Amino acid sequence: MTSARVIPTPKNGVMDIAAYVPGKETAPGVERVYKLSSNETPLGPSAQAIKALSDVATHLETYPDGSSHALRNAIAEVHGLNPANILCGNGSDELLGLLCQTYLSPGDEGIFTEHGFLVYKIQITGAGAVPVSVPETDCRADVDAILAAVTDRTRIIFLANPNNPTGTYLPVEEVRRLHAGLAGNVVLVLDAAYSEYVRRNDYESGLELVSANDNVVMTRTFSKIYGLAGLRIGWLYAPLAIVDALNRIRGPFNVNAAAIAAGAAAIRDREHVERAVAHNQVWLARLTEGFEALGLKVTPSVGNFVLVHFNDETGKTAADADDFLTARGFVLRRVTAYGFANALRMTVGSKEANEGVLAALKEFTEKA
Ligand SMILES: *Cc1c(COP(=O)(O)O)cnc(C)c1O
Repeated sequence: MTSARVIPTPKNGVMDIAAYVPGKETAPGVERVYKLSSNETPLGPSAQAIKALSDVATHLETYPDGSSHALRNAIAEVHGLNPANILCGNGSDELLGLLCQTYLSPGDEGIFTEHGFLVYKIQITGAGAVPVSVPETDCRADVDAILAAVTDRTRIIFLANPNNPTGTYLPVEEVRRLHAGLAGNVVLVLDAAYSEYVRRNDYESGLELVSANDNVVMTRTFSKIYGLAGLRIGWLYAPLAIVDALNRIRGPFNVNAAAIAAGAAAIRDREHVERAVAHNQVWLARLTEGFEALGLKVTPSVGNFVLVHFNDETGKTAADADDFLTARGFVLRRVTAYGFANALRMTVGSKEANEGVLAALKEFTEKA
């Protein structure tokens, strides 16, 4: 007798997802490895964050505060916000997922841009909705193209500003123009994971737009400039009605005790942030100039990373460069999944790492 074997079937959308592949961390056979693949800070976290973390270790038996009051209060204090409008998450990745679960029903559409952060498409698809990718212009989000892609099924739009992996940004006027073209039932999510690094007069992270509207959300992370990627801390700033909805579906203790304590200490250490910005300012410029001097094209970045394009004519590809660099301990990020088959993304690292990559790529481009 043959009977068809019945197995559990994931709901629609799940098996359409290509699982996220994190940046490499190892270089086999190499002693000293410089991980420049996930936009982590070379400065590490604030010493005060490390101290706060170690204090938590003595009472791990208690549940964390399910509302992350200490962390929300610290964020509110530093940014001049009402803590009621802040929601914390297990990394901003969790918050991006919660937004999709809350606002997308099957058949709805979620928009992101051509070279946008991969998590948007994953979370839209996982919510059973239709992912809509919109072309960019010169590696930058194109407001007219986004508005042209909006339909009456559109419920959410993700814009990383600045974007990863391109490093490009939209000036505040362009973001306002995008928002002005949307119906009130479309949530505009401004992912400001790299906003602390941006030094441009025409940039605004999203705080103003959230404060003035009912349908804008800004997300931030402690994984980048604060150097706490390992603890998984993100937060969002949103209208009360959105925070209320998200609070109903999140896990009751979605942010752990170590994250709450270390995050609150980290965000209050403004000197540490200033040091990170100053380091980045210097090396973003030097790396960009250095790569261009080697004949490589660099997308102008305002973040803590650069997208370096390899020359299609020379036959020396990004894959070759990746192998060459990895063999010397410099681990960068392949970005094929982001639509760049012949580019690498490099995180701004320590002086030693940056100089090492520049020297290695000089050798790579000059070798026969
Ligand atoms: C790194 C990054 C994040 C941060 O994710 P976490 O889950 O907070 O670590 C969010 N958005 C973009 C565009 C990023 O590059």
